[in-house]
Amino acid sequence: CGVFGIFGHKEAAAHAALGLHALQHRGQEACGIFSYDGQQFHSHKGMGLVGDNFSSTDVIGQLKGNSAIGHVRYATTGGTVLRNVQPLFAEFEFGGLAIAHNGNLTNTQAVRRTLVRRGCIFQSDMDTEVIVHLVAVSLYATVEDRIIDALRQIEGAYSLVAMTKDSLIGVRDPNGVRPLCLGRLDDTYILASESCAFDIIGADFVRDVEPGEVVIIDSNGVRSIKPFGEQKGRFCVFEYIYFARPDSIIENRSVYEVRKAIGAELARENGVEADMVVPVPDSGVPSSIGYAAEANIAFELGIIRNHYVGRTFIEPTQEIRHLGVRMKHNANISSVKGKRIILVDDSIVRGTTSKKIVDMMRQAGAAEVHMRISSPPTAWPCFYGIDTPKREKLLAGQYNIEEMAEHIGADSLAFISIDGMYRAVGEAKRNNDDPQFCDACFTGEYPTRLQDEEDLASDE
Ligand code: SF4
Ligand code: MG
Repeated sequence: CGVFGIFGHKEAAAHAALGLHALQHRGQEACGIFSYDGQQFHSHKGMGLVGDNFSSTDVIGQLKGNSAIGHVRYATTGGTVLRNVQPLFAEFEFGGLAIAHNGNLTNTQAVRRTLVRRGCIFQSDMDTEVIVHLVAVSLYATVEDRIIDALRQIEGAYSLVAMTKDSLIGVRDPNGVRPLCLGRLDDTYILASESCAFDIIGADFVRDVEPGEVVIIDSNGVRSIKPFGEQKGRFCVFEYIYFARPDSIIENRSVYEVRKAIGAELARENGVEADMVVPVPDSGVPSSIGYAAEANIAFELGIIRNHYVGRTFIEPTQEIRHLGVRMKHNANISSVKGKRIILVDDSIVRGTTSKKIVDMMRQAGAAEVHMRISSPPTAWPCFYGIDTPKREKLLAGQYNIEEMAEHIGADSLAFISIDGMYRAVGEAKRNNDDPQFCDACFTGEYPTRLQDEEDLASDE
């Protein structure tokens, strides 16, 4: 998901819509904006893209007020229905609270059970709703203290943006798994998942919200609280590999430069003789550029992407995913015919994309097809907000690399090593005692307890 918040601007909702448009890659299933005009909260939510829901001046005009928050949804928990669209909103003694969440909680079931016993009535199946109820039942007086009280009871990944009648609040979980940053446009402060959302509205990047930090923006400016003390954080390394937009800067690294560096590492680790390097568009493009430059092999667009189809992975069902892949890519026959090609993509999840693309290259007459992947094998599910399937459905959860090569039909297959990936993000190597990043989908080492999983296992 993607989140955005703006405080103290006369066109808050219009800016939120633009910011969400820049964050569209983080979720395409649904979107929503809440605004506050000093008296009332206003909202608009819809299924689908930001441009389809927030392009009319009528809609934006109804979202009155100087502060607004918004959300783009990428479903990981909860069905694709309107009641699961964020931001969520509730009225408390202190007034209204709208909240938008990126990430995934890992102890929702236990917390939810306790809350239901206490009489809370849930209206959605989103994990985010437990946060709202925890705020509601908290015995603390101020909104901030109630939010902090709620945070102490939840585990997992959360980058939150919340709006009250007099403040905008940003929160990052102690591991800082998902991104969140602070920007500024004249006297107006802005929170967004990624810095590309500041660029679109001409705002300046100020800094990342730190892991475990709560920032409170109100008419007095910005305050920071660290309820969990100083945290080193374990940012999701897959944001660098795939999820974030290449023009974003996260934790002082350009996502684009990291991707190119991964490509270069991949070429050094797993070079192969070939005539051209072909990216699987769009996600494989930056790493292909890095690979081609390092290997000194021509970079060619051997696959053309139809831009009017969303990210296939984000479509919820397997049937649509299959269909989507065919709709999205086509071989550029004149460039690949008779050539030995190195295909570069960011990841293999189920193997659907790779298999189709390799096949497509062969049908287009490629002489050899070598697949290079700019992440280590995805062998473990993510519980922090990326919708990877269970281990049984992950190609690398079932097969070794040789078997995977055979499955996708490539002449050779290689992945970046864990240390190569760490070098590309600027670390000498992975600190195995205390890893610098979350890399659990590659290593199986999760940075938090997985209570929901433990509960499920003990139920079976
Ligand atoms: Fe990111 Fe993988 Fe960790 Fe999920 S498990 S947060 S995708 S690194
Ligand atoms: Mg892709």
